[in-house]
Amino acid sequence: MPLKTRLKTLYNKLPEPGDSLEIAPGVNWICMPLPFLPAFINCWLLEAEDGFTLIDTGVNNSKTKKIWESILRKQCTEKPLKRLIISHFHPDHIGLAGWFVQKFQVHLLMPQPEWLYARALYLLPDTTLGEIMVDFYRRCGCESEFLDYANKGGNTYAHSISAIPHNFRRIEKHQKLHLTESNWFTECSSGHSPAQLTLYNQEHALLIAADQILPHISPNISVWPEEPFGNPLQHYLDSLKDFEYFNADVTMLPSHGYPTKNIPQRLRQLAHHHDERLEIIYNSCKKPQTASEVAAAMLGGEVGLQHVFFAVGEALAHLNYLVEKGEIIRSVNSKNVWNYQQK
Ligand SMILES: [Zn+2]
Repeated sequence: MPLKTRLKTLYNKLPEPGDSLEIAPGVNWICMPLPFLPAFINCWLLEAEDGFTLIDTGVNNSKTKKIWESILRKQCTEKPLKRLIISHFHPDHIGLAGWFVQKFQVHLLMPQPEWLYARALYLLPDTTLGEIMVDFYRRCGCESEFLDYANKGGNTYAHSISAIPHNFRRIEKHQKLHLTESNWFTECSSGHSPAQLTLYNQEHALLIAADQILPHISPNISVWPEEPFGNPLQHYLDSLKDFEYFNADVTMLPSHGYPTKNIPQRLRQLAHHHDERLEIIYNSCKKPQTASEVAAAMLGGEVGLQHVFFAVGEALAHLNYLVEKGEIIRSVNSKNVWNYQQK
C-alpha cells in the first residue's frame, strides 16, 4: 500500500451530538463538537459492572455541558458515572474535568506528568505567561505584531478550561484497568504531550489512541516556551515503537477522525511525514534562518497570526531534532535571536 493512501474508515457517519454508538460490548463512542478544527473530539464511555468510566471531556462551553447532561441522563440510569480518565492536558481533552468532578463527584484519573503540566499552566498569571511567550517567540524571530498578539492573549489555556482539580489518582504505564467486562492496558507516551495515555483492550482488539496516533492528520509535535531546547520529535518517534506490535486488525479509536484499522500502515505514514518535514527544514537552512523563517518554509508561505504558535513549535521540534543529530547548528545572533544553519 503506498505511503500516502488514506486509511479506510470503519464507519461512514459520526454519532450525532447527544447520541452514543456501542462499538464493542461496553464501549460507547461519543462525538463532541469543537469550536475549532479538527471540528470534533471522540470521547469513550466505558461500562463495567460497577459503573461507567468516561475518557476525555471535550471543551469547556455550555453546548458541550448540555450534551453531556443529556447523554448521562440517557446512559447512566442504572449505574453511576464513577470515573473520569483524561488522556492528556490539552483543552479539548481536559476542558470539563473540573466541572465533571464537581458536578458528578467522579474520581479523576490521569498520568501524573499530564496533571502536573495542566495544573502548573492553569495557575500561571496572564502577565507572567505573556512575558514568557514574548521572550520565547522573540528569540524564534517572530514579528512584533505576533508578540503583541501573544502577550495580549495572556493565559488562554486557563481561560478556556474549567478549574484543574487539585487532586487526582495517578495512572502509570503498563497498568491493567478493569474498565469494561475486560481489562485495558495502559501506555504513556511523550512527544505530543508529556505522558499521553492510551488504552488497549486485547479481548476486543481495540486501542483508545487519544492524539498519539491519528488516522488522517498528523499529531502536533511542538516545542513550547518552557523547554526551548527540548526534543519532542525524538520522544514521539521513539514512542511509536511501543505500538509496532499491534497487528493490522486492531481497531484504533482516535480522538479525532473515524475509527480505523491498520495501525502498522499509519505508523509508517507518520514516520514518513516527519522524514519529509525534516528534509524540507534541513534544505531551508543553507543560510542562517530563524525558527519563524523555517516555519514559513515548512508550510510554504506566510503563517496567519493564530497559527504561529503551532507552526513555530513544529518547526522548532524538527530543528531541535536535527541539532541533536548534529546536522544543524544553533547559534545566537546579535539580537539574541536563535539562528539555524546546516553544519
Ligand atoms: Zn492533544
